[in-house]
Amino acid sequence: MSNFNQESVLSVRHWTDNLFSFTTTRNPSFRFRSGEFTMIGLKVDDRPLLRAYSVASAHYEDTLEFFSIKVPDGPLTSRLQHLQEGDEIIVSRKATGTLVIDNLEDGRNLYLIGTGTGLAPFLSVIKDPEVYDRFEKVVLLHGCRRVAELAYGETIHEKLPNDELLGELVRNQLIYYPTVTRDPFRNRGRITDLITSGKLFADTGLPPLEAAHDRVMICGSPALVKDSRELLVARGFAEGNHGEPAQFVVEKAFAER
Ligand SMILES: Cc1cc2nc3c(=O)[nH]c(=O)nc-3n(C[C@H](O)[C@H](O)[C@H](O)COP(=O)(O)OP(=O)(O)OC[C@H]3O[C@@H](n4cnc5c(N)ncnc54)[C@H](O)[C@@H]3O)c2cc1C
Repeated sequence: MSNFNQESVLSVRHWTDNLFSFTTTRNPSFRFRSGEFTMIGLKVDDRPLLRAYSVASAHYEDTLEFFSIKVPDGPLTSRLQHLQEGDEIIVSRKATGTLVIDNLEDGRNLYLIGTGTGLAPFLSVIKDPEVYDRFEKVVLLHGCRRVAELAYGETIHEKLPNDELLGELVRNQLIYYPTVTRDPFRNRGRITDLITSGKLFADTGLPPLEAAHDRVMICGSPALVKDSRELLVARGFAEGNHGEPAQFVVEKAFAER
């Protein structure tokens, strides 16, 4: 049996010149946990051209969603950005990844730190009722350069609080904190700086990060991952992994080539 399913594109949304998202059909046999990634791609010259992608949809939804960069000369995304409704894509039958709540010890508040397309796994995590069961507050931090890059802001701010299944949980427990570095906006600055300066806690009314109580998931550029890891380790947080839950987990949103 092939290791891949063929799925049909159902919708495409272009957020900026560099970012787009799309939904596809979902083979019912494809299972994943909130926060995991899988391999997706296109057939090029009769061979699969695949890349790792976080699943942005919830584990219980009938469709799959992906949030993608457009790298102008990128082997996959130079093609993928032209996807249209009805096109076929290849999706692996398996999903994996470290950004799952099973890799975290119980705690008080869960911080989700994402930059750019590193938001994608957290779109799935914030739609999982179990996450709200395990944590008191879920704090979603999304950092970008430009305001236009804060994709999904409207969904998180307006749609989710009115969702039939999740509305009450989201209204009571989700704190969404978008921030940009290059445009005027209500929140400005790099996420690590907002944590270090204490501005994040002053703005949200939450107590400063503490390894004894707080849990963190990080997904972003290699630089964000490095800086956040250093910041947390300096505060006594231990990194979790499969089979060894701890206080924080990380995943690079992309690899430098
Ligand atoms: C675990 C994991 C999960 C991933 N999830 C996603 C996802 O949900 N959405 C997504 O768009 N990409 C994701 N990626 C990156 C993805 O696998 C590809 O690299 C990306 O789609 C570009 O593919 P490409 O063939 O066009 O260019 P590549 O040759 O793969 O990349 C070329 C260069 O573009 C830059 N780049 C690649 N991806 C990104 C990105 N997402 N943001 C900023 N710069 C980037 C890097 O500098 C890279 O060296 C993930 C990568 C990993 C390792």
